[in-house]
Amino acid sequence: MIIRRQSKPLRFGTIIIGGDAPIIVQSMTKTDTRDIQATVIQIKELTDCGCEIVRIAVPDFEAAQAISTIKKNVSIPIVADIHFDYRLALKALKSGADGLRLNPGNIRNPEQVAKIVKAAKQRQTPIRIGVNAGSLPPSSKPCVSIAEQMVNAALEQIESLESLDFDLIKISLKAFDVPTTIEAYRTIASKITYPLHLGITEAGLPRAGAVRSAVGIGILLHEGIGDTIRVSLSTHPREEVDTAYEILKSLDLRQHGPTLISCPSCGRAEVDIISLAESVDKKLRKINKPIKVAVMGCVVNGPGEAKDADVGIACGKGKGVIFRKGKIVSTVTEKDFLGALMAEVKNFLN
Ligand code: SF4
Repeated sequence: MIIRRQSKPLRFGTIIIGGDAPIIVQSMTKTDTRDIQATVIQIKELTDCGCEIVRIAVPDFEAAQAISTIKKNVSIPIVADIHFDYRLALKALKSGADGLRLNPGNIRNPEQVAKIVKAAKQRQTPIRIGVNAGSLPPSSKPCVSIAEQMVNAALEQIESLESLDFDLIKISLKAFDVPTTIEAYRTIASKITYPLHLGITEAGLPRAGAVRSAVGIGILLHEGIGDTIRVSLSTHPREEVDTAYEILKSLDLRQHGPTLISCPSCGRAEVDIISLAESVDKKLRKINKPIKVAVMGCVVNGPGEAKDADVGIACGKGKGVIFRKGKIVSTVTEKDFLGALMAEVKNFLN
């Protein structure tokens, strides 16, 4: 059982991050924010697959202005990603952004920070202090590691915001290097109670990036650290959301949509289990409800080995058994494997 670190709850639009709230799944659009139509379409795709907060890049005033129209057409909170120019943060707030992400590495002028904080406070809009190992501010304290520099950058910015009587704060400390990221989050988790946004930055293409993210984010979540996660992958952001939920489901922290349990197949299998598992996976992607479905290669051991599954099939030569909660409910011939399994899934969900 995971005991979560106690963090201060924070509201982003309709979503609460931290406190007793579930761990929230976020992503970021990859469209040009100024292309309102494309951005709205992508946010809707993300919403459909379970994304709960979306961040959008705000590289210029046109993008900051676009937030007001985008917001009218989507249903999840929008966080404006701001770098370098504090005026973009002010514009994004005016346009109705539900949160800001500021990088302490590139907006450092205290007067500019104060202007942003004043505007955010008036609207009660939270700010994520998003520290990135690749763009750290020059450090005033002698440090021994990148992780420590990241923590210090966050603590300095927290101090600066708190001195302006602002505490609607969330923190992220992202690096590509997994041990660095883990060290940074562990350290900050013991020093503050603000909610933590976890991620491994620039994690890579889907396969390697999903593994890096699962290891880094997964280790922290297992220690109870983390209130919201974003998986960064070089692909459509839908895959970031799917991967985030797989991480959360693996640790029993959230239930979301179906989970496929499939045996790897081996010399004992007498049917093509890999193709069957792929076909089942494709069909399960159209279902939103949580259900565990097993595809196993042995009639004798399958139901027992997959006893965690709600519904499953154990395949033998020419025939297989459909089971429910470990108990056999019917025997089917090979041509009906897929159809019979999906029919049982439907029955289970109704
Ligand atoms: S369930 Fe059967 S076919 Fe699948 S890996 Fe195990 S022994 Fe092999």
